[in-house]
Amino acid sequence: MNQPLLETSALTMASGRAIHDPATGDLIGHAPEHTVADLDAAVAVATAVQPAWEAAGHGERSRLLKAAADAIDEQAETLAHLLSRETGKPLNGPNARLEVAQSSAWLRATAEFDTPGEVLVDDGQAYATLAYEAVGVVGAIGPWNWPLMITIWQIAPSLRMGNTVVVKPSEYSPLSVLALGEILNSVLPEGVLQVVSGGREVGARISEHEDIAKVMFTGSTRTGKAIAAAGAANLKRLTLELGGNDAAIVLDDCDPEVIAEDLFWGAFINTGQTCAAIKRIYVADNIHDEVAEALAAIARDVPMGPGLDENNVLGPLQNRQQYDIVTRLVDAAREGGARILVGGDPAEGPGNFYPATIVADIAPDNPLVVEEQFGPALPIIRYSDLDQAVAWANGLDVGLGASVWSADRDRALEVAKRVKAGTVWINSHAVPDPRIPFGGIKQSGYGLEFGAEGLKSVAVPKVYNG
Ligand code: NAD
Repeated sequence: MNQPLLETSALTMASGRAIHDPATGDLIGHAPEHTVADLDAAVAVATAVQPAWEAAGHGERSRLLKAAADAIDEQAETLAHLLSRETGKPLNGPNARLEVAQSSAWLRATAEFDTPGEVLVDDGQAYATLAYEAVGVVGAIGPWNWPLMITIWQIAPSLRMGNTVVVKPSEYSPLSVLALGEILNSVLPEGVLQVVSGGREVGARISEHEDIAKVMFTGSTRTGKAIAAAGAANLKRLTLELGGNDAAIVLDDCDPEVIAEDLFWGAFINTGQTCAAIKRIYVADNIHDEVAEALAAIARDVPMGPGLDENNVLGPLQNRQQYDIVTRLVDAAREGGARILVGGDPAEGPGNFYPATIVADIAPDNPLVVEEQFGPALPIIRYSDLDQAVAWANGLDVGLGASVWSADRDRALEVAKRVKAGTVWINSHAVPDPRIPFGGIKQSGYGLEFGAEGLKSVAVPKVYNG
């Protein structure tokens, strides 16, 4: 099941799933079309080798995770180039090289965490402990936007806790994940990690498979619900990291020039194709125009183009469907009477390029505000009543991240307490940290990744009493 390195195989395969460069439309290569039968075979292998992997212990597994991180670092440029070509994301900026570097950093951090568990009672009469032990086989299903990093987020804690893992990458970006699997498998024992590069039917099989005890899923809310329904048959454990529509609330005491750069990248990280990016900004009336202009000035200057060009920091949308969503939503903003300060006018030509777009004075119920655009178009909503802004921020059925921006941290914190989201950043946004748990509420899913909580979520709790 493990694929040879892409340089020697998948890029030269003559058939399979054709993968095109979203910047040019050129064919990059073919990914194997694994089937449901291949998935079943992989699960059988994962089930067979899991007891030995669990028995190897935390020390040995941590050592191997660190060795796997070293293996990624050795191939960092190769991986970054492949990732850039497959997803369109530029090498530079908060994009491909960063994603590869964070993948190895996450592996190392996960290897270092203390083993979870605690003494519950020790009073001379009773003694009880709570331990966290392997679940068994974990199925990991991922999206196309951060294929390497999200795969690592799913597999690093799973492996650390003694589980074996079967990964199903998105059908839009399988090549990078196949390459990652090959690199990790140069270090890991055989069968502990397998990549099955199939379509939705393979994902659906993972979610119902009776020998998969836990599914780590990152993707859309719609698919998350399908997985929860399928997994109900055997009470599968689930971590669901789903869609978001993160709000940033900018208070009236901010200096627009000071916050503009961080606000911009909080929204345009990976050209806006990020689950926990800023997708709508509520700005106090007194600074709305200045903030909007400062963001538009940055958007005008930031170079967008093919990812392998070292100058670019914004790239194309990864696929045409996403391009069409962004186009539809910006058109809806225009029709709704919003002011498009920059962008909104994609050029004809090869590739899925949609220009960085800043939209001001948009109605709070416009589709560009209330639907997830997942691309480089940012709506700015003017507010004069902070309570109203908080109500708008909380008014959607998703709750992944959010942020509050203020010159006064205590004031920001008071507002943050009223915002309903899994994470509320203060004066930053979309800055993940392997030590800090991350997860959504409402229709953004449930379960936590990262840190000690992330280890617990790929384990079963077990009490030893006596
Ligand atoms: P998607 O739900 O279309 O696909 C994700 C994965 O699910 C793919 O691998 C796909 O093959 C698989 N899949 C499809 N149907 C399935 C089924 N019935 N059963 C099992 N698996 C199935 O999502 P996408 O378009 O790839 O990703 C974009 C979405 O992901 C956005 O909504 C974004 O917000 C969200 N996302 C969330 C996070 C997070 O951490 N919360 C991170 C990244 C992306």
